[in-house]
Amino acid sequence: MWGVALTIVFSIAAAVALLTATVAYRLRRVVPAGTALFLIAIGITCWSVTAAVTADLSDPTFVPALASIGVFGQCLIVLGYLGLAEVVTGRPWHPRLRARLLLAVEPTLVLAMLLTEPWHHAFFDGVVRSPHGTWQVGIGPGYVLHIVYSYAITMIGAYRGLLFARHRSAFSRRARRWLAAIVTPPLVANVVALTVLHDIDVTLIGTTLSTVIAYGALTRRSLELLPVARAQLVDTLTDGVVVVDRNGNIADVNAPGRRMILGTAPWIVDPIGVELDSIDPTFPALEETDTHFIFVSEPLGLDLEIRSRVIRDRHGVLAGWVLVARDVTEFRAQRRALEAANAQLRAQIATNERLRADLAEQAIRDALTGLHNRRHLMTVLAEAERAESGPLSVALIDVDHFKRVNDEYGHAAGDRVLVAVARLLADGVRSTDVLARYGGEEFVLLMPGLSAEEAQEQVNRLRRLVASTPIEVAGQAVTVSFSAGLASGSGPVDADALLEAADHALYAAKRNGRDRVERAASVV
Ligand code: GH3
Ligand code: MG
Ligand code: MG
Repeated sequence: MWGVALTIVFSIAAAVALLTATVAYRLRRVVPAGTALFLIAIGITCWSVTAAVTADLSDPTFVPALASIGVFGQCLIVLGYLGLAEVVTGRPWHPRLRARLLLAVEPTLVLAMLLTEPWHHAFFDGVVRSPHGTWQVGIGPGYVLHIVYSYAITMIGAYRGLLFARHRSAFSRRARRWLAAIVTPPLVANVVALTVLHDIDVTLIGTTLSTVIAYGALTRRSLELLPVARAQLVDTLTDGVVVVDRNGNIADVNAPGRRMILGTAPWIVDPIGVELDSIDPTFPALEETDTHFIFVSEPLGLDLEIRSRVIRDRHGVLAGWVLVARDVTEFRAQRRALEAANAQLRAQIATNERLRADLAEQAIRDALTGLHNRRHLMTVLAEAERAESGPLSVALIDVDHFKRVNDEYGHAAGDRVLVAVARLLADGVRSTDVLARYGGEEFVLLMPGLSAEEAQEQVNRLRRLVASTPIEVAGQAVTVSFSAGLASGSGPVDADALLEAADHALYAAKRNGRDRVERAASVV
């Protein structure tokens, strides 16, 4: 009864394991865990088949031989679990030759012991029948060693897997959960079999459960999603991605990276394995730190933004580089154009500012003489009216008999005389004075800070200067004089009153014979 039941259970386990092994083998190139799962599933198939046959045997003759096949299956399962743990760390499982040879030692020894078992009986400790009627091999010293070794390897694998269980993406977390679900049942079942249930090997129940889960993981594609997605992501990038090994040879490249390489060095047929240095001698040597630079490729006619990432193995030893090359030609050209446009705009703004300042200046200047105009004079006077300033003298200056100059030499010559008089006056005043053309041949001079006497002295000095300076007009030396009326006040002043008083004084100067300065009778 028990025997039949166990045969059925183990047969189902064998069938599921075989199915899983087939699927895993087919997907071993796309699923990183494929090879490892194939080993596990084939191991379980061996073990389950022999267990199914053994369970309902009436004669124990072949029990040790069948158990041997099961044990060899266990060796494969242990190797598969080690491979699974490697896959969890995110790398495809391609053990080097030395590692492969080392890993092959124990299964070979076990195989040798199993084949020679009839002569030494060191692996099994006889055959016993359990109370349930099933056949069991006793565990001999060889078998004990095998169990210890199997647990040690499984623990090493689990430890390595756990070390990498942190800092991984959501995708790989999902893959890890599947892998944990695959590994846990046989471990638990084996512990139960070794400690509690001695007469029935429930490990196989655990391994069967494990294969069912593994089959689910494979068919739901949880284990292949991540690497396939990553590969597709790298291929859909418009940036060139080049993986360079520690010797400086290209290990992998995506389609845009391949185009860049073949565009630079058309003689290259396949970039894989090609030395990076041989592609473009102007490309900078790779450093042992992450770098980021612009590389102008002459052959491609492109500006490339290169990001170089150092890859290190778990011991911190340089393993290679990932180079990501982005075409920034357009971007850089646009930026240069933008910078040029900005410079032009800044120049334009500066010009506008100058023009505006010129205009503002022109608005307060007299066009003929370049002196300040009447508008500016009025602004300054209005400010003087508001300010609590000191003394202010105002001189109203009028060129004498100017009509005659015009009449005698012409209007244009008269203009030149006006300009010359304005220059003489401007050169003779202090920098704090304000000199303005008031209109026609009349000028106003504001002298802040001067007393009436000092102001009269300054204007008289100017008068003597003008009267004694011949002005050359149409080849002739013309001399003109001016009369001035002076009024002084102390701020805040009444501008209109000052100008009116100065005008009265000017009138007096004219009346008294011209070429003179008259002061207003009273200080305003
Ligand atoms: P007085 O000594 O009394 O001031 O005699 P005047 O001839 O200077 O007197 P009046 O004020 O009558 O004449 C001023 C003349 O100045 C009249 C006008 O033709 C001339 N004048 C006014 N503005 C200008 C100017 O911008 N250019 C020239 N060339 N002449 C001007
Ligand atoms: Mg006049
Ligand atoms: Mg005049």
